[in-house]
Amino acid sequence: MTSIATLGSHCSLQVLKGAKDEGLKTILICEKKREKLYRRFPFIDELILVDSFKEVLDDKCQKKLQENNAILIPHGTLVAQMSSEEIESIKTPVFGNKWILRWESDRVMKEKLMREATLPMPNPVSSPKEIKKLVIVKRQGAAGGKGYFMASSEEDYNTKREQLILEKVISKDEPLYIQEYAAGVLAYLTFFYSPLREELEFFGVDQRHESDIEGLARIPAQQQLNSQKVPSFNVIGNSPLVLRESLLDEVYTMGENFVKAAKRVVAPGMNGPFCIEGVYDENAKFTSFEFSARIVAGSNIYMDGSPYYSLLFNETMSMGKRIAREIKNATASNELDKITT
Ligand code: ATP
Repeated sequence: MTSIATLGSHCSLQVLKGAKDEGLKTILICEKKREKLYRRFPFIDELILVDSFKEVLDDKCQKKLQENNAILIPHGTLVAQMSSEEIESIKTPVFGNKWILRWESDRVMKEKLMREATLPMPNPVSSPKEIKKLVIVKRQGAAGGKGYFMASSEEDYNTKREQLILEKVISKDEPLYIQEYAAGVLAYLTFFYSPLREELEFFGVDQRHESDIEGLARIPAQQQLNSQKVPSFNVIGNSPLVLRESLLDEVYTMGENFVKAAKRVVAPGMNGPFCIEGVYDENAKFTSFEFSARIVAGSNIYMDGSPYYSLLFNETMSMGKRIAREIKNATASNELDKITT
């Protein structure tokens, strides 16, 4: 029997619950410090206890996964805590395309794929000297918004950067990435592409709540001006959003363009869940600042099914369950090689 394994964090509960609902065995690679939490959930069949998630690369762990015919579901924690080389070296079959995760982590490659997919993007700013309007300054990799800051001039940039170095949030020689700030309504658009059916599904939209940029909005302007703190974009949680129906056609087109572009640049393409992240401006024009080439934590909102999936499936369908369903279908038709790498 195939089993589903994932790292204990991010969206592991949803992934394993979905797998259990589909009748698959569930395995959690769990840091010892979180054992008590995860033992609370009866749908987790087996815990592989580790001191650090990096142990997933060790022969011992890989052997255990192999004995269980496991497929590893990658999520944000895997991308944040392991290098692309490490992820690519995982011997256990990874759901989706593990090669595309490098394109998510590396800012230059990320931009290249987004351009290939013709996603409308904010302009990159090549150096602090070129800051002419409001920009957002980001760190490399999936830092989850921690240590990101906004600046409106070179001087402003230098002051904030120095302050964050003093606070040890960022390091002195850390390369930073500057991008024009896109104002509007945040929307994180999640899709699922099935290489078995060669079909794109739109799953849903979420919004991220980020501290303390959101906290700042609750403080009157006078106190904001007196504050010396550099606000960050650290994700705390997510909430649901539905879009004006007139925007859906363009959403599907963006998803399809992304799938086509990924097929061209990083075989076998964008299989499984992915997310296009950005903002809608006052003219309902979407600007995308980011993508995730795997399940995002925003899908946790829809553990009981999303509004858009209730239009496509006559049953409750979470993203975790959708992944497990794809694995079940591929197992039945002997096509697991089509959906894993
Ligand atoms: P994750 O991997 O968790 O998605 P990340 O480290 O790759 O995070 P981004 O998603 O690029 O970072 O940015 C983090 C947050 O910063 C976004 O959720 C958004 O609120 C804000 N943000 C990023 N880029 C822009 C932009 N160009 N304009 C406006 N806001 C932005």
